[in-house]
Amino acid sequence: MKIEFFKHNVGEDELREVKKVFNSPFLTTGEATHRLERNLAKYLGIKEAVGLTSCTGALHLALLAAGIKPGDEVITTPMSFVATAHAILMAGAKPVFVDVEPETGNINANLIEAAITKKTKAILPVHLYGQMADMEKILAIAQKRRLKVIEDAAHALEARRDGVRPGQKSFGACLSFYATKAITSGEGGSFATNDKKMAEYVRRLRSHGVTRELSQRQRLGSMAYDVDVLGWKYNMDNIQAALLLPQLGRVEKTWQRRAKIAEYYRQSLAKIGVTMPVIVSKSKHAHHLFTIWVSPRKRKNILNYLKTKDVSAAINYVPIHLFSFYRRQLGFKKGMFPVAEKISRQTISLPLYAKLTDVEVDYVIKQVQNAVRKA
Ligand SMILES: *Cc1c(COP(=O)(O)O)cnc(C)c1O
Repeated sequence: MKIEFFKHNVGEDELREVKKVFNSPFLTTGEATHRLERNLAKYLGIKEAVGLTSCTGALHLALLAAGIKPGDEVITTPMSFVATAHAILMAGAKPVFVDVEPETGNINANLIEAAITKKTKAILPVHLYGQMADMEKILAIAQKRRLKVIEDAAHALEARRDGVRPGQKSFGACLSFYATKAITSGEGGSFATNDKKMAEYVRRLRSHGVTRELSQRQRLGSMAYDVDVLGWKYNMDNIQAALLLPQLGRVEKTWQRRAKIAEYYRQSLAKIGVTMPVIVSKSKHAHHLFTIWVSPRKRKNILNYLKTKDVSAAINYVPIHLFSFYRRQLGFKKGMFPVAEKISRQTISLPLYAKLTDVEVDYVIKQVQNAVRKA
């Protein structure tokens, strides 16, 4: 048996939707994109979702829309994919890392205030593995210190905490539709916000700063437009949107399957003394990644064993501050964020996706049990 780390859910429904786009004259941002934007906003319980080509682009534009400028500082977590901190640098600002909670791996809200300086303009939490950071605390700090909050919700499309979903109470949330995410168009992303003006501004920034995108010009029957700001090229096209529309319609169903697998993993692996991130109360975990924490001394052996048994695994994440670029460019050193570093030495992500069969899930559990015993 060979267990892939991830399998997408794209099939006949998506093909049908893409075919409709192919049969229309317009492949880039247009009707399908607008429909995806409306459906996504409705699903998220938010006023606006802007279709973009990546979460990285969404983070970049969200930071620009929030007024982040060169010289500013943005507080974030080192326990994420490098895109989170890269986006801050793309906006010209400086990422300031704060260590994470040992129980969840999410940014430790209790350490944020100590990291705030005169230059701090925003906080960028990441909802790690699909579990939301402590937004109540983070938003309270942001309000007191007049900071913007932008959420990296790349893992958290389906998540909720304390009754609040990504983007609902912050400046906005950034989503990813990258190849391994809950719904995918290969590459894709979105900025979701309750601020209609900011959504419009991000729509401008996604297409070079033009005041009217082509589909709008065609609708209005006027080819005139202005460029009033420097924009980028991050507009989602109709093909990407067509791929996402049916998946979005099934998103709760596929989430339920992942939640069931995650619960089964959790119960089975707790028995053999493997530790896992804690699930906080009053929350809905999006179950994007299922991670276990093992002894750092044993991890290499466990990973090797799983490889010989054809069970694919991943490491999420190497903390961003330890990449050579970040050490060299920003002076970060080993030991600066000990909790994130400890998690990064212990963590193993197991396959988690709706297409996993019960037989495959049992196989993964058995091999992890064997690997831990033998390591
Ligand atoms: C995948 C991911 C991103 C980047 O998403 P893209 O759509 O590939 O740009 C950002 N942050 C986190 C936490 C991610 O997992």
